[in-house]
This record gives sequence, C-alpha cells and structure tokens, in this order.
Amino acid sequence: MAAYVVGHKNPDTDTIVSAIAIADLWSKRGIEASPIAQGPVNPETKFVLGKFGGTAPEVQTDATDKQIILVDHSDLAQSLDNLDKGEVVAVVDHHKLGDVTTSNPLEMWVWPVGCSCTVIKAMYDFYNVEIPANIAGMLMCAILSDTVMFKSPTCTPQDKEAVETLAKIAGVSEYMDLGVEMFKVKSAVDGTPAAELLMRDYKDFDMSGKKVGIGQLEVVDLSILEPYKEALYAEMEKLKSEGGHHSIFLLLTDIMKEGSDMLVLSDDPAVVEKAFGKGVDGKSVWLDGVLSRKKQVVPPFEKAFA
Ligand code: MN
Ligand code: MN
Repeated sequence: MAAYVVGHKNPDTDTIVSAIAIADLWSKRGIEASPIAQGPVNPETKFVLGKFGGTAPEVQTDATDKQIILVDHSDLAQSLDNLDKGEVVAVVDHHKLGDVTTSNPLEMWVWPVGCSCTVIKAMYDFYNVEIPANIAGMLMCAILSDTVMFKSPTCTPQDKEAVETLAKIAGVSEYMDLGVEMFKVKSAVDGTPAAELLMRDYKDFDMSGKKVGIGQLEVVDLSILEPYKEALYAEMEKLKSEGGHHSIFLLLTDIMKEGSDMLVLSDDPAVVEKAFGKGVDGKSVWLDGVLSRKKQVVPPFEKAFA
C-alpha cells in the first residue's frame, strides 16, 4: 500500500515542503509514498516551489483506507478527515504532541526545533540519503520561513546549522537575501480578499472545551495591513458566528519591529489580559516581541482558558 504524506490544514511552506521531502526520502528507502496537501498552496510556498522547480501536491482531504505519514502536525483538528479510517505510520513534527493515536507501532520524529524541515534534514543524514539540490533549497526556505529568518524564539542552533548546510547543497550563497525576497512575497496582500487573508495561516484549537481560532499574518511592515484591519475584523465576526467559536484572534505580525498587533474577538476578552497581562485597547492589543503563535500565544491562552 502506498503511503501519503500530509501536513496540516491551510498549508504553509513547512507543511508542503515537508510532504514533498518525506515522500522523496521514503521513496529512496524503497517505500512508495506521495505528497498530498489539504488545500492549495499560499503565495509564499508558490514562490519557493517556483524557485526550486517543485510542484504543488495534489489536494486530498480524506484518509479512509490510506497509509498516512503526518508532517508538521499531530492534532486531529489539523488533520485529514476520517484519520481513524486510515493508518498513521509515521509522524514528523516540531509542535507539541497532539491527540493522534495509532493501533500499530509507528516511526516518530518529533523534535523541539523551529521547523519540521530541520528534523527532515537530520532524517536524510540518518538514512544516509543524499539530499537533492532542489529539495535542499526548498527545505532551507521552509526553515527560514518558520523561524522568521532566525528571529523567532522557536529557532534553535540546529535550525541555523541546517540552513547553512542546505544552502551549500542548494548552491545558494546569499540565503538571507532569498529569505527577505520570500517574506516580501508573503507580505504582498494587494487585491487579496480579507476572507482569504484571515484563513491563510489560521488554526482552530480546543482550549478546555472552548473552540478558539488563532490566525497569523506576517509582514515586513504592518502599515501594509492597516487598510485591511476593518475588513479582517468583519471576516472574524462572520467566522465566529458560523463556526461557533468562543474566541478568534488574529496576529498581525511585524517581522521587522518584532511584535504583533493582535485583533481580538471573544465572548470573554478578559482572557487576553489573563494571558498577556495587557488589556485589549478597542479591538486589538500590541504584543511586543511576540512572533510565534506556537511558543508565545498558544501556551498562555491555554493557561488562561484552563
Ligand atoms: Mn506549519
Ligand atoms: Mn512548521
């Protein structure tokens, strides 16, 4: 049975590149595997694939009767439909362990590093498989993206080391320049509907039984998003009423100023003060130094909701 490699919903560059690379590595280990995705690729990923000759994985959303390798997530809420009707045979991730369970032993690579692709770089080394130059380039970009060019508090020395090595394999001398180019592509919101921007990097969480949505938009300058704020908030209201959320938060992250303006829509806005020690000013709150949803936003909210 062929295995399918899949990342989380609303795929980002790490999720897509991880699926492509793991399918490559598995194939070279003699196990048939194909990358799939739970949705279309975002503009940043499109840029990375274009740069290194990658192809966007086919979109599939159901796990029934499939062998599945999960990358960049292990939460049911982030995964394929009917995951229990398929078989999870491996997990490669860098998030907190989720609620996926299996009926058979599995291969599991979950490391506390800044990007799944950093783990995958080490897996290629472990299995003594040479990393193709184009895949090295994509892995390198995914690490620069997930770690916000090493600025995120999630970044570890392993991430930097992996980028250095991958850049050499890919033949990229000025990888930081490529990173800036990539973040400029990510920042371009011109003409994109607010609904699409809200969902671009959006995740639902279960926090003590409450449905909490947290989205994030990373830009090189927050003024890019200023004209969109009202429309984004209106989309948050729509999503909340349709999805039955307790709260929806949207991080508008300025990667140069290194902080986030968080739009807040909640049945109990006091959770923000509880989580960050700072109250909401109108519809939003500036969180200085906050770049990482995973490390700086989800844990304090989980505590505040508990
Ligand atoms: Mn991801
Ligand atoms: Mn990731």
